[in-house]
Amino acid sequence: MSEQALVHAVNVHKAFHGTDVLKGIDLDVHKGQVVCLLGPSGSGKTTFLRCVNQLETIDGGRIWVDGDLLGLEDRDGALHRLGDKAIARQRSEIGMVFQRFNLFPHMTALENVMEAPVQVRGEKKKAVKERALGLLERVGLADKAASYPAQLSGGQQQRVAIARALAMQPKLMLFDEPTSALDPELVGEVLAVMRELAGQGMTMLVVTHEMAFARDVADTVVFMDGGVVVEQGDPHDVIGNPQHERTKAFLRRMH
Ligand code: ADP
Repeated sequence: MSEQALVHAVNVHKAFHGTDVLKGIDLDVHKGQVVCLLGPSGSGKTTFLRCVNQLETIDGGRIWVDGDLLGLEDRDGALHRLGDKAIARQRSEIGMVFQRFNLFPHMTALENVMEAPVQVRGEKKKAVKERALGLLERVGLADKAASYPAQLSGGQQQRVAIARALAMQPKLMLFDEPTSALDPELVGEVLAVMRELAGQGMTMLVVTHEMAFARDVADTVVFMDGGVVVEQGDPHDVIGNPQHERTKAFLRRMH
């Protein structure tokens, strides 16, 4: 295992109702790196992301996050799901941003950002509030702290969702097509926040169809199709000069 790999996945398998969705995924995300997962709909990208956050239990293989095995190995080498407490502890170090913003509608932007550190981690409100205001500023929403989700645009809501994930001071951020539910004119502001985060050294695993973002920001792009990694590498190679027919066909469709 490479020492710096923050996410180290080996031969990950996952099936739903007897259908193999992940068929042996090997994938590393190193500290400070941005890895973009590309591929056609249904290729298993979201499922892989959910496995890293233990929203799904894998059927085979192993995933380590920052050296911690996700699951418990018994004496026969079989992997079991960890207890809820252990999962919650591991998950609290991972921020996840979904396609839908999932903000609490009855809470202001500030309250949304403060919720997890106060409720889950029991941190003092005063310190969390300061941090949350700083995060809202970082995503360009200092003036929207008192607004409710319904008063914000989709792009603003997604930026609050990013600030909310950052409030737990995660080691790793997972993004699951964070711009795909947005009107086209709102995509740029969310990608800009993600670019900035990447520039500040955040480790990120991003499922996206935004090719320009992947090309400019990713250290590595991973092209998946049919539950396998077809090719991965430097974005300029994989996007600019793909080696596999399936990658070429996908990229042709994207342009
Ligand atoms: P992608 O993110 O690449 O579009 P997904 O990981 O969402 O792909 O889905 C991969 C396949 O797994 C799809 O065929 C999808 O229908 C199936 N799938 C995903 N989640 C579930 C689930 N909870 N139950 C059954 N099938 C699922």
